Amino acid sequence: MKLVTCGLPYANGKAHIGHLRTYIPADVYVRYLRMLGEDVIFVCGSDCHGTPIVVNAEKEGMTPKEFVEKYHEHFKNVLKAVGVDFDFYGKTAEEYHHEMTREIVRRMIDGGYIYPAEVELAYCTRCDRFLPDRYVEGICPYCGAMARGDECDQGCGKHLEPGEIKDPRCKICGNPASFRKQKHYFFKLTAFKEFLTQYLENLKATENALNYAKEWVKNLRDWCITRDLEWGVRFPGDERFVVYVWVDAPIGYISFTKKACENRCDWEAIWKRGEAEIIHFIGLDIVYHHCIFWPAMLKAANFSLPTAIVASGMVKVEGKTFSKSRGYVVWVEEDYLKQGFNPDYLRYYILSYTSHQKDLNFSWRIFKDKVNNELLATFGNFLYRVLHFSWKNFGEVEMEVDDEVIVKIKETREKIIDALNKWEFKMVCDAFMELAAFGNSYFQSEKPWDLIKQDKNAARKVISNSLQLAKALMIFAYPVMPESMKKVAKALELDLTSCSLDDAAKIDEKMKVRKPDLPFEKIDEKVIESLERMMENRFKEAEKKVETKEEEIGLEDFKKLDIRVGRVLKAEKVQKSKKLLKLEVDVGNEVRQIVAGIAENYEPEELVGKSVVVLVNIKPTRIMGLESRGMLLAADVDGKAVLLMPERDVEAGTKIK
Ligand SMILES: [Zn+2]
Ligand SMILES: [Zn+2]
Repeated sequence: MKLVTCGLPYANGKAHIGHLRTYIPADVYVRYLRMLGEDVIFVCGSDCHGTPIVVNAEKEGMTPKEFVEKYHEHFKNVLKAVGVDFDFYGKTAEEYHHEMTREIVRRMIDGGYIYPAEVELAYCTRCDRFLPDRYVEGICPYCGAMARGDECDQGCGKHLEPGEIKDPRCKICGNPASFRKQKHYFFKLTAFKEFLTQYLENLKATENALNYAKEWVKNLRDWCITRDLEWGVRFPGDERFVVYVWVDAPIGYISFTKKACENRCDWEAIWKRGEAEIIHFIGLDIVYHHCIFWPAMLKAANFSLPTAIVASGMVKVEGKTFSKSRGYVVWVEEDYLKQGFNPDYLRYYILSYTSHQKDLNFSWRIFKDKVNNELLATFGNFLYRVLHFSWKNFGEVEMEVDDEVIVKIKETREKIIDALNKWEFKMVCDAFMELAAFGNSYFQSEKPWDLIKQDKNAARKVISNSLQLAKALMIFAYPVMPESMKKVAKALELDLTSCSLDDAAKIDEKMKVRKPDLPFEKIDEKVIESLERMMENRFKEAEKKVETKEEEIGLEDFKKLDIRVGRVLKAEKVQKSKKLLKLEVDVGNEVRQIVAGIAENYEPEELVGKSVVVLVNIKPTRIMGLESRGMLLAADVDGKAVLLMPERDVEAGTKIK
C-alpha cells in the first residue's frame, strides 16, 4: 500500500499557480499508480493555525474560525475544479485533528523528549502582549535580511527560534519590541542528530530536498514548540499554551489518513506499523520542516517514518520570480478558471514544462503555444483524424495490429513507468507526445484516404494500427488530462476509469467507432493578448504601490478619510490590560465602541464628555476580543498617546477637512 500526501495549503489566502505545482503532479502520480494496480490513499487538507491567520482574521474583523472556513472552502473547490482528486481533504481546525496532535505530543512528552525552559521573547509594551512568530518582524541574525519572527523568508530561508530575531518590531503597531522572559517548552531535536543523519542517507527524495537537509542536519538546535496564543491545538503538557503550527500541521497527514481509512483500511498499519510507503509531495520552501522536524517528531512518538519526499522547484510568472506583493502571481480561480479554460491545459503545462525539481515559468504566450502546437497540432490532431476517418468509413473495425506498433506502445509504457519512478513528469509527457508524433507520421505516410479507394482491406490495416495507437494514447494521457481524454474516449466506448496501463497494448477483436468529439479547443490570440495586458497592469499597479509607500498624497486621497469630532459618552478600563480603555463615542449619526491604548495617560472619568478626533471609516478590528470601530487621533509622544481635541467645543459628528 502507498500513502501519498501534499503539503497543506495555508488557509490564509487564495490558491495560486505555485500551489498547483505540488498538487497537480501528486494527483497525476496517484492516478498512474492506480493504473498500475497499486492500492493508494491520497490525502491533504487546510492548515488552519498559526499567527498569520490570527493577524489577518483580526484585520478583516473575523474570528480565526470564520476566516479559515472561507479559505478552506476556496481551496477545496479550486482543487476539485482542476481535477485534484483527494480521498480526503480535511482541515486542522477540526476536533479529530486536535486529538491526534495531542496524542502524538503526549507520546513525545512520555518519551522524555520535551522539557521546559525560560526564554527571552519579543514583547510589545504598547499592545501589552507577547509577540509570537509573525507578530514580530526584524532582521535575520544569520544573513541580515528582513525576516519574520519564525522564518527568514526573504533571505537565507532559515527557521528562526523565538527571541533570535534582531531589531524586533511589533507587527500590529510598529513599536520597537522589548524582551521579556517566559517559560516555554522545547523539543530535544539535538538528540536526533545521529538518527536524522542516518535517515537522510536512506531516504528516497529529490536531490533538491536532500542537498538542503544534509547541510541543515549538521547544525541542529532544540526547538521551541509552544506559543502564547488562543488559536491552535492546546499543548497537553501545559494548557496555557498552544503548540507551534509546524508541530500540528504535518500531523494533518496522519489525522486525514485516519479519516480517509474509515471503513476502508487500517490507518495504524500505515502510521504505526510501517506497512505502507509514505510519500510526501512538498514545495521547496518547506523542506526543513519535512526532512528535519517531522521525522524526528515521528521517531520520538514511535510512529512510522516517511519513505519518500518529493520537492518541486519554484514558480516564476512571465519570467519573474513569483511574488504576490509585486504582482507576479497567477490566481487559479480568477485568472484561469473564470476565463473558461480547460483545466487539463494547465495540468499539461505544469507537468510538461520542465523537470519537477527545476523552476517553472508560467507565461500566457507559452501557454498558448503549448496548447495550440503540442496538444492540438500533434496529440489532438492525430486522435481526431483517426477517429473521424474510422467512423466515417468503417464504423466498426476488425483489428489487425502490427508487432511494430505493439512494441512502440510497450516501449512508451516502460518510459512512463521509468519516469514516474524518478518523479520526472515532463518525461512522462514526452513519452506519450512522442507516441502521438509517431502516430501522426504513420497516418500521414500511409495515406488511408487514398488507399481506401483502391484497397479497402489495406486501408483497414492502417486504421487498425492507428486506432490501437489512439487507444494507447488515451490511456497513457488520462492521468494528466482526465476530462479531455474521457470526452474523446467516448468515440471508442472506452471506460478509462477502469483501464490499467497494460490495456494500452491489448488488442480487441473489433473496435466500434462513433462520431468523435474534438478533445481540445484552440486558444485565441486575442484572449492571450488581453491576459498579457491584465498581467502588465497588475505588475504596474504593484510597482506603484511600492513606490508611493512613503510619498506625498493628493487631496483626493485625503478626502477618502472620514474624520469627525466625536464626544466620549462612556469610558472604562479593559480588564487585564494596563494600556487599553474601552470607550463609547458619539460620532454624530451613531455611537461607536472604540478601544484605544491610552490608559496610561488618561483616567476613564476625565474623558467622559470630552470632544475627541476620530477616524471613522477605518476597518473595524478586534483588540483583546473587543470590537473597535474607529480610531482616536493622538500625538505619539515617546510611545505615549496625547489626544487631539478641537480648540473650542463643537458638535459631535462635525467633519474635519
Ligand atoms: Zn536569513
Ligand atoms: Zn504593538
